[in-house]
Amino acid sequence: MGTKSREVIFGSRLRGLMMDAASAREEAIAAVRRADRAEAEAWSLHMEGFGGPAQPSPTLGQCLNGGLAWLEVECLRCKTRASLNLLYVRRRRETPIWQLEASLRCRACATPRRRAPARIVKLTAEREIAQREWDGPDPDEV
Ligand SMILES: [Zn+2]
Repeated sequence: MGTKSREVIFGSRLRGLMMDAASAREEAIAAVRRADRAEAEAWSLHMEGFGGPAQPSPTLGQCLNGGLAWLEVECLRCKTRASLNLLYVRRRRETPIWQLEASLRCRACATPRRRAPARIVKLTAEREIAQREWDGPDPDEV
């Protein structure tokens, strides 16, 4: 009898609080995602519209969390453009996106001695340039 009344007194309140906690946590995760996306979009717009400044920039993890998983880059020599999937970039998620630029190298116009550097154009949610039009930079090198 005592057990049953405890269930009556505390059970529904407990379940209600557990549900509140779960939904508040989901909202918080969604809010962080929106913030990451907004920050990544703002940075991307700055890069595309004004050519920088590249620093400070969102991190690799923020771009992925915000749904902007593609980085459009352009070779400084031959002007070939490519979309790189950030998911396969072998860097820690805490790495600021601007730091990737220094290790971007174009294969399209590469010679045995020299591979031209590339610049970041913008972030996109989808691949905007087919992979076959570009033979690099390889995500391995980013
Ligand atoms: Zn090139």
